[in-house]
Amino acid sequence: MTKAEREVAAALLPEDPPTAATWSVAVMELGALVCRADRPRCGDCPVADLCAWRAAGRPAYDGPPRPVQTYAGTDRQVRGRLLAVLRDAPGSVPRDRLDAVWDDPVQRERCLDSLLVDGLVVRTGDGRYALP
Ligand code: SF4
Repeated sequence: MTKAEREVAAALLPEDPPTAATWSVAVMELGALVCRADRPRCGDCPVADLCAWRAAGRPAYDGPPRPVQTYAGTDRQVRGRLLAVLRDAPGSVPRDRLDAVWDDPVQRERCLDSLLVDGLVVRTGDGRYALP
């Protein structure tokens, strides 16, 4: 992400921290499940009426070549797996459900900590984990 893209994203972020956390989760879910770069599901998109690319007639990408980013084994993959557990659960989950998604305990702990710091995951009063 470029500096300009980060500035745009920050400007769109709600000021209220709980709302900002919910917004962040929603945007990540939209990108992961609906607005996928390889095959966007515009028919299922909740913001289709606001989409500039769609309004422009879905033009082909004509920018510079995109760098190929390895996904397997990255913190992004671990964070995605942790969030998937919480997204698919009907409520909060115990720690062992999160521990089961990734073998490397150091990387898993780092990713879970970063999700907590980012406000994308919360620890409930009974020591379980949930989406905000
Ligand atoms: S309508 Fe736009 S934002 Fe929605 S999935 Fe399609 S490309 Fe993505």
